[in-house]
Amino acid sequence: MPPLPDAVSPSDPLDFNQPRKLIEILYNALSMHLSLTAILPDSNLIPLPFINVVAGIFGAVIGSFLNVVIHRLPREESIVLPSSRCPSCGVTIAFYDNVPVLSYLVLGGRCRSCKTHISARYPAVEALTAFLWVAVAWRDGLTFAMPFDLVFVTAITALIFIDAEHMILPNAITYPGIAFALIARLAIPFLLGQPHFDDLNMLLNGMLAGMPLWAASLIGALIGALVGGGSLWLMGWTWEKLRGIEAMGLGDVKMMFMVGAYLGWRLTILNIFLGVLSGSLIGIVLMARQGKRNMQMLLPFGVFLGIGAIAALLFGSQIVNWYAGQFR
Ligand SMILES: [Zn+2]
Repeated sequence: MPPLPDAVSPSDPLDFNQPRKLIEILYNALSMHLSLTAILPDSNLIPLPFINVVAGIFGAVIGSFLNVVIHRLPREESIVLPSSRCPSCGVTIAFYDNVPVLSYLVLGGRCRSCKTHISARYPAVEALTAFLWVAVAWRDGLTFAMPFDLVFVTAITALIFIDAEHMILPNAITYPGIAFALIARLAIPFLLGQPHFDDLNMLLNGMLAGMPLWAASLIGALIGALVGGGSLWLMGWTWEKLRGIEAMGLGDVKMMFMVGAYLGWRLTILNIFLGVLSGSLIGIVLMARQGKRNMQMLLPFGVFLGIGAIAALLFGSQIVNWYAGQFR
């Protein structure tokens, strides 16, 4: 016998005859789920060392894939097919010879088939990516920010090694990178329910007070992109006017659009400072060793900007806050 309408109390959460109530229940369940996931790192449900080990293993595997990207992307070859081959003899590398870092060590850095020496860049990229993934996991814990930061450091690592080898920063990475930064700017504050990005608290307490979080986050991204891309563009333009030579490609400008949007203006200024400082130091050392005095030597500036970007992501807030504290 079906229950009479009066039998259902209005506060019964399972009264599906009230669509508004149902939406409310679903909304509450969803937001409760989101906030539960967001506080996971504090709840110690999954110990941090375990998360770090998993991040390290995945990082090494992704690093192995990055080697393919670094080798093939500038040559405009497919990243997916064919499977990895020895660059010397062309033999397909078996899966058991493709274990990150370990295979290189077991095989003594040589191809199993033709014994040609394999570049140490391969295990280096794998180990570095693993290390960076552990560093990000360590810093972020199991939060919604972690996957975004992992994508960021992985893309920057690819740019660093491609620029070092080919002196280019491919659009195939920087353009999607800019889109990624904007998506992260919208998604992370929404998922975490807090500003998260380094520049956002200051913006919300200052010139963007009273603005919705997502809008402030996007404006912060725009300011950061203009600071990053704009200053790189200005440096290149000034150098060109002074010396009459093109010193900086637009790749650096696009890369810093992406980095600036993601990191915000404070960390972007730190990033450029670190990049210029380390680039100049290395440049001076190299010029001194080669006896060159004409300053014409080209350095892959994207390498130094990329190192600065990763350092700014991992330690930037602490450095900038410490520096700002010196003047209080
Ligand atoms: Zn071979």
